[in-house]
Amino acid sequence: MPTFVINAERRVIIWNRACERLTGVPAHEVIGTSDHWRAFYDEQRHCLADLVLMGRPEAMDELYVTHAEPGDSTHGLRAENWCVMPQVKKRLYLAVDAGPIFDEDGALMAVVETLRDQTEQKLAQMALQSLAVKDGLTGLANRRSFDEKLEAEWLHNQREGTSMAVLLMDVDHFKLYNDTYGHQMGDTCLKSVAAAIDKQVFRPSDLAARYGGEEFAVIMPNTDLDGARHVADRLIEAVRELRLPHSASQTEDCVTISLGAAAFIPSDQRGSGDLVAAADAALYRAKHQGRNRVVCADRVAELVEA
Ligand code: GH3
Ligand code: MG
Ligand code: MG
Repeated sequence: MPTFVINAERRVIIWNRACERLTGVPAHEVIGTSDHWRAFYDEQRHCLADLVLMGRPEAMDELYVTHAEPGDSTHGLRAENWCVMPQVKKRLYLAVDAGPIFDEDGALMAVVETLRDQTEQKLAQMALQSLAVKDGLTGLANRRSFDEKLEAEWLHNQREGTSMAVLLMDVDHFKLYNDTYGHQMGDTCLKSVAAAIDKQVFRPSDLAARYGGEEFAVIMPNTDLDGARHVADRLIEAVRELRLPHSASQTEDCVTISLGAAAFIPSDQRGSGDLVAAADAALYRAKHQGRNRVVCADRVAELVEA
């Protein structure tokens, strides 16, 4: 196991072969120096062993992405971090343990730091996390991410006293599309529609999501109804511009969407669910007014409130 030891003067006294292999730094370059950080980072900073030596477990908060509760640092510390590894020129995710060694009188003699390369596990975990937030068919954010973002932005915009908007979209006559072209073509169509939507939603703070089967949604923090209408018009146009044939559509001869938009300044009287409900009611009206259009929820919002 990659291991090094520093003495009470913070000088490296042991740097084993596994540590040489992991870091690409030969023992003779670090033994006797306090340069052990150079093996892991390209800017000077403390390693976990230094924090044990200095009795500064609280510094783990700013130096490590995750760490165990320090408890009592005389029992050692445990943390994990991305390291740039300047010599091997790789970015590795390392799990690190640092444990103190005391002499018979209880004085701190040395600190042993052991390292485990957890890069593979970390990358797999990150890939899984990305699966958990994305819709499998379209690659857009999934419903769960939508709900989480909606709640977070609702609270944020309430604190700031700013308006936020939600757009809800539904593909027109999509059951007829499936009936005409088959379910697989239906899936391909949803992917194309999702990509067209995603392309129009480019502000980093906005989020485009697959809300349900053939329904999509956009969250736009810090946006009023005029801003929402502007994006909504672009979305309707972008889907129409795909010119995906839909011979059975009773609206046009290509795939279209209907869209409901709503924007509120969050208040204690209304929750984020009311914003979605207002957008949904507007979408319902867009369907009933002939589809392939945007309806904004100003009047509907008043009805929802009443
Ligand atoms: P409207 O214009 O009123 O929205 O009519 P519609 O036919 O689109 O409405 P409806 O909600 O009745 O039909 C939605 C259809 O979408 C039914 C369902 O089978 C289909 N659908 C939902 N999810 C998927 C999917 O992932 N893939 C495919 N191919 N079809 C889906
Ligand atoms: Mg629907
Ligand atoms: Mg539909």
